[in-house]
Amino acid sequence: MYEKTLTQLAAALKSGEFSSRELTAHYLQRIEKADGHLNSFISVTAEQALQQAEVADNARASGNAGRLAGIPLALKDIFCTQGVKTSCGSKMLDNFIAPYNATVVEKLNAAGTISLGKTNMDEFAMGSSNESSYYGPVKNPWDLTAVPGGSSGGSAAAVAAGLVPAAMGTDTGGSIRQPAAFCGITGLKPTYGRVSRFGIIAYASSLDQAGPLARSAEDCAHLLGVIAGHDGRDSTSVARGVPDYVEGLNAPLSGLKIGLPKEYFGDGLDPEVEKAVREAVKVYESLGATVREVSLPHTHYAIPAYYVIAPAEASSNLSRYDGVRFGHRCDNPSDLIDLYKRSREEGFGEEVKRRILIGTHTLSEGFFDAYYTKAQQVRRLIRQDFLDAFEDVDVLMGPASPTPAFDLGAKKDPVSMYLQDIYTIAVNLAGIPGISVPAGFVGGRPVGLQILGTHFAEAQLLNVAHQFQQATDWHLQRPAFAEEYA
Ligand code: GLN
Repeated sequence: MYEKTLTQLAAALKSGEFSSRELTAHYLQRIEKADGHLNSFISVTAEQALQQAEVADNARASGNAGRLAGIPLALKDIFCTQGVKTSCGSKMLDNFIAPYNATVVEKLNAAGTISLGKTNMDEFAMGSSNESSYYGPVKNPWDLTAVPGGSSGGSAAAVAAGLVPAAMGTDTGGSIRQPAAFCGITGLKPTYGRVSRFGIIAYASSLDQAGPLARSAEDCAHLLGVIAGHDGRDSTSVARGVPDYVEGLNAPLSGLKIGLPKEYFGDGLDPEVEKAVREAVKVYESLGATVREVSLPHTHYAIPAYYVIAPAEASSNLSRYDGVRFGHRCDNPSDLIDLYKRSREEGFGEEVKRRILIGTHTLSEGFFDAYYTKAQQVRRLIRQDFLDAFEDVDVLMGPASPTPAFDLGAKKDPVSMYLQDIYTIAVNLAGIPGISVPAGFVGGRPVGLQILGTHFAEAQLLNVAHQFQQATDWHLQRPAFAEEYA
């Protein structure tokens, strides 16, 4: 069963080939057998999943099942799930049982999908390798000595290994697209405001956005259709109709104008990754698209601007974890200040502390204008670069990441880790959508092609990705792990 895409599983459930209970049990068994090698789950909610499956099967029997009823999924452990631990990969929230569901979770439940559990992630979604999790690193199923990418690495690894057909992630600077690229799957970051952030533990609120990680663009289209839409509980969610993304999947590409940003093909890009990406672009040409070079002149300011804005927002968002309102509380505090200090010192890991320090510094009096205001101005220029480019072309294409997955433990200093996101981070600063699709391998490790569109162009991106997947079979490749261990 696990060989099937989510789209195929939905059809099989509909035709009665197997029940949701059988399907759910199948995946739970695979998780049980294989996840010891991957560490992709923080919590597995087997009992609850089987109950949900029963409900879905009953709904189907009485003719009330929606398109995705009975499909098992996993949720990054950043989505609040009522009655289930929601740790955000941190010791700080190791004992936090969420009292309510995130809107994304509510919508998935209403669609009848089943949650198998909560996936591992970088602590508070800060990272590009999944090595900063309190629960230990996740391994890449293509090569257990490689990272799966981050911060949604648990979701990506679980999907790639066939432990679940699809999973939800969040992307603040690349955390859906980069792990999707590293694990050879498809990952979509929607436009900022397309999906409600209510109940998603906040990292950098002006950048965070949730989206699906799955085997194909078609699978992502099904899932985006469920989770997108306006939500009165998130004032930044946009009141705009949700198209039928699946319906939009078969538009021909003749006449599609593709731009290749020259800044995405410069120094630091692995030549083998470049080759794979250029081959993918040729496939598009054979499908009738035209290609031209474009420029996003402020690209090299994206990482510095992001590492002012994201830590600033994080330092504010994470102030609630003080051992009183939320989070781990130290033993035997001598007074209130000691309680705050030791609770935060014990609860947060190193990378999170680094970002809180940076953010607190840049927001402090005397530095605010020099750093934060400046970074916001740069952000505006970066956004304008994209809008200018989309005057001339329909979509932009390039690598999702400058290299394939690197070895566990390979990136020791924070800056070399930050540079991983060179092609993904500007997208969040601009608020536009992006998708990563599998486009080959380098040294046995997957390469991702990133496709970008203008605000709310998800339907177009999904179609463009889907057409590539109709013409190639990179997305159907599976790591040997999927058969050997599970
Ligand atoms: N790697 C980036 C960071 O560490 C982006 C992470 C993300 O998208 N959540 O902030």
